[in-house]
Amino acid sequence: MEKGLLFVITAPSGCGKGTLRRALLAELPDIKFCPSITTRPRRPSEVDGVDYIFVSMDEFIERKRSNQLCEWAQVYGNYYGTPKEELEHSLEQGSDVLVEKDVQGARTLRQVYPEGIFIFILPPSLEELERRIRTRGTENDTEQRIRLESARREIADLADFDYVIINDDVQRATDRLIAIALGERARRELSASKVHRGGKGWQTHL
Ligand code: 5GP
Repeated sequence: MEKGLLFVITAPSGCGKGTLRRALLAELPDIKFCPSITTRPRRPSEVDGVDYIFVSMDEFIERKRSNQLCEWAQVYGNYYGTPKEELEHSLEQGSDVLVEKDVQGARTLRQVYPEGIFIFILPPSLEELERRIRTRGTENDTEQRIRLESARREIADLADFDYVIINDDVQRATDRLIAIALGERARRELSASKVHRGGKGWQTHL
């Protein structure tokens, strides 16, 4: 069976990647979101097992020790990791999978999955990002400042990505994300043997 496509979304905190992800999955529900595990406390809007798998520090350490994570990182004092088995199993089953990572996580995943599709979400401006982080109000002042600083650094690292989407308007950004997913699926169709190599595929009709 052909492996599924891996879409990796990266965005500085506050860029609206959660909103975009939900909008993409509502439109293309056959894409499977593979949540990270994290030791960060759950935000009121988040659902355990859907947005993240929330785990204790002990459980995180155990999963890391037993090599169950493809990559992991400490971000803003909390730990995040990509569960290896769930991701690999879904791809092997032929499902297209979406994950969300920070820049360092995306870079590590690029080494493991060089064929992945790496998408960076940009805020319309740093001023707007600051406004969003402050009005979201889920972090204290120091945490907000750290998130803004690391956003600056992450944005300087864009070159390694396949696509960039500026999230100036949620609907427009969602449309772009959907276009990327559909485009990549069309590209896969082209390379699939049923199109290229005859058999019962299109070539027999031409
Ligand atoms: P937040 O706490 O705002 O949801 O996420 C903080 C940062 O951690 C974001 O940049 C997010 O993309 C990143 N992140 C989430 N899950 C993972 C993961 O499994 N690995 C890595 N490296 N980063 C992650």
